[in-house]
Amino acid sequence: MQRFSNKNSVYSVFIMKTIYTIAELQNELGVCRSHGRKIGFVPTMGALHEGHASLVRRSVADNDVTVVSIFVNPTQFNDKEDLRKYPRTLSADYNLLEANHASIVFVPSVEEMYPQPDTREFNYAPLDTVMEGAFRPGHFNGVCQIVSKLFDAVKPDCAYFGEKDFQQLAIIREMTRRLGYNLEIIGCPIVREEDGLAMSSRNKRLSDTERKNALKISQTLFESHNFANEHTVSETVQMVSNSLHGAPGLKLEYFSIVDGTTLQEINNWEDSDTAVGCVAVFCGDVRLIDNIKYRT
Ligand code: AMP
Repeated sequence: MQRFSNKNSVYSVFIMKTIYTIAELQNELGVCRSHGRKIGFVPTMGALHEGHASLVRRSVADNDVTVVSIFVNPTQFNDKEDLRKYPRTLSADYNLLEANHASIVFVPSVEEMYPQPDTREFNYAPLDTVMEGAFRPGHFNGVCQIVSKLFDAVKPDCAYFGEKDFQQLAIIREMTRRLGYNLEIIGCPIVREEDGLAMSSRNKRLSDTERKNALKISQTLFESHNFANEHTVSETVQMVSNSLHGAPGLKLEYFSIVDGTTLQEINNWEDSDTAVGCVAVFCGDVRLIDNIKYRT
């Protein structure tokens, strides 16, 4: 069991285990649980970066065992080209996870996760009908399908999600509550590149020019944070929209300022203690999302 107790282990050498099937995963975790180990879980689609690493480090700090899944979930891609082009960097991913002391990396096949089509429907309106839900039909249904299957397989004590996918985090919290999962959902802050661009696996697909153009997204959000101190919600929405509409190489899909819990648009700053500005932008054919919290 030493490999699971990396916080207390007497060994300096650490061995991460790679598991491909749910049966083997449950077998391994059953042993951990019977030894009273606390299990943390970080679901990912791979092409890992420092944003993912921050979730893994948080889980390793909070738990005895950290399971990281790498699975590019087909049911959450409404755009099949996006699925085909999704970056896959498995051996670099293993290195990143090992360096950050993940205990188990779970890498199932599509057949393992979907032995037959998943016909379940998750409806968390109005959380899942706005923003990403409006522009990516079926996306959150696919996210809930895979995350619930992974929760059932791992049965973690805690699961870690990034605030980068702000709406996803809110929907996972709602799913966890409604389905009665006995686990804690922990949201972790957005990790950015040094120049401010939110880290994303999709950034790997940007050309040099697109990467420069993409910087305008975070720059505009940061500017809007100051702007919001002296302007109304609608003026702030207008400012961000104008700035991104006119920006070279970018195509704004939406920008909304919403309450951080209900995800519904607000009209006045006084309407919410947790106002968040959420944006989706095409940079070439790469779709990027980002968000910023106001009045904090
Ligand atoms: P993905 O592999 O894109 O499905 O992301 C897996 C998890 O990592 C999700 O909970 C994301 O919100 C989180 N994540 C992705 N990028 C970042 C980032 N830049 N900062 C923090 N968390 C992130």
